Amino acid sequence: MAIILSPLPYADDALAPVISATTLQTHHGKHHRTYVDRTNTAIEGTDLAGKSLEDIVAAAIATGNKGLFNNSAQTWNHGFYWYSLSTTAQTPEGALAAAIDASFGSLDALKAELVAQGTGHFASGWVWLVAKDGKLSVEQTHDAASYAELSGNPLLVIDLWEHAYYLDHKNVRPDYLKKVVDGHLNWAFAAENFARGSLWAYPSA
Ligand code: MN
Repeated sequence: MAIILSPLPYADDALAPVISATTLQTHHGKHHRTYVDRTNTAIEGTDLAGKSLEDIVAAAIATGNKGLFNNSAQTWNHGFYWYSLSTTAQTPEGALAAAIDASFGSLDALKAELVAQGTGHFASGWVWLVAKDGKLSVEQTHDAASYAELSGNPLLVIDLWEHAYYLDHKNVRPDYLKKVVDGHLNWAFAAENFARGSLWAYPSA
């Protein structure tokens, strides 16, 4: 069973104008698909064929297979990113809202930290909201680096690669980040990840 291209959980124009249909069609249909295809090519005929994406990422780390790591981790990161985005503005509730206040002081302070770290990250990478023992933090990973480098369980991620925002925001990464953080984060998805307390599983066929 091959790794699938996880479907977009909304129409490709549902995040416009912050993330346009053209960006989503290219980002999901070309960039994400290429990572999926290259992962499947790399595992074909090996003992990783039929394994979960999380097992493939772990094997790539354990064996130092950089090519397989880049493609499998990017496959996972993009699947998680699509679910991290919401078509409508949401507000965190319940235990997640309490943890945000306890860890950052306020939701606005968390949003500012996401924008600051996402803006400050040099070149390509990802900015994450992470939970460990009930405490939340904002962390960054570079290029394809994955959840395996985080201090805890990822709740949300935002793609910092230029292909995520360049068509809609040109070189102004802070504009993309502010608009995503203010109006398009899926706090319900973050709350599910926070309540489960273990890693989200990439969709399989
Ligand atoms: Mn991307």
